[in-house]
Amino acid sequence: MRTLSLIVPCYNEEESINIFYNAVAKVFASINEKTERYQPEYLFVNDGSNDKTLPILKDLQKQHPKTVHYLSFSRNFGKESALACGLDAATGDLVAVMDVDLQDPPELLPKMIDLIENEGYDCVGTIQKERRGQGKLRAFLSARFYNVIDAVSQVRIEPNARDYRLMTREMVDTITSLPEYNRFSKGIFAWVGYKTTYLKYESQPRAAGKSHWSFMQLVNYAIDGIVDFSDAPLKIATWIGGLSCAVAILGFIFVIVRALTVGHAVAGWASIVSIILFLGGIQLFSLGILGEYIGKIYLETKHRPKYIVKEKK
Ligand code: UDP
Ligand code: MG
Repeated sequence: MRTLSLIVPCYNEEESINIFYNAVAKVFASINEKTERYQPEYLFVNDGSNDKTLPILKDLQKQHPKTVHYLSFSRNFGKESALACGLDAATGDLVAVMDVDLQDPPELLPKMIDLIENEGYDCVGTIQKERRGQGKLRAFLSARFYNVIDAVSQVRIEPNARDYRLMTREMVDTITSLPEYNRFSKGIFAWVGYKTTYLKYESQPRAAGKSHWSFMQLVNYAIDGIVDFSDAPLKIATWIGGLSCAVAILGFIFVIVRALTVGHAVAGWASIVSIILFLGGIQLFSLGILGEYIGKIYLETKHRPKYIVKEKK
């Protein structure tokens, strides 16, 4: 019998965990109905929850000591770190990444397994068809984010793809061998390559609890994604700098020629002030872009661990 690891990040999910477990157990019962095919290995990663998530996980582990495991962080490190931890710990022949709120329907697992076993794929990802329960502004911004990242990143990142996916052991080994500290999973999954296909499904409401993402967190997530997978912003800063230099030289020549031919011109201060403000703005903006990259370099060079596991079983 082969093993299928399920990596499940949990942050304040006391209401969802048991619902999740029951739903997934049902799917595994159907997978193994005719022949024993896949033994599940549940890897719940408690990402520093401050509700009853950990005791509930411990309880679940006691009830199913063979298949359920938990890894509990010393604080909240974020979903990306929880995923990295799960991938490091997974031992399965196939490895799935799945949210605990059932927004990633476990009913897709048999189809995903089939695509890997019979169609030769290394990875089956998922795409949400429409984003129900999401504000218009968020949907608009998230669509623009995918436009931008598609234009600037070296790898193709599938628009609206979820983290929910099933991968082969080989692909997981490759991902865990990447040493980087800053982890933008969507980009990493795409960067390692491998034969990947996507399943589309209707977006699901949360089983219980509420989403953890604030608007600013999503904005920062988008910036991280772009900075981690592209140096285009640096190039754009260079181009804007070069362009304003060229315009400045032309303006300088114009002023000199005019002073020599027509005579001294009285310049309006409004135009000068707006040019100064404009150039100052560009400079600060470019410095900000530089800062984003230097910040990333700084974090990488510290070689700190991506997460700290305090307890596990
Ligand atoms: N999550 C996590 N750490 C965090 C935030 C979220 O492990 O700091 C987990 C959360 O428990 C859930 C998954 O990541 O299993 C997705 O979170 P959420 O449902 O809040 O995001 P959304 O579905 O709204 O994108
Ligand atoms: Mg969710």
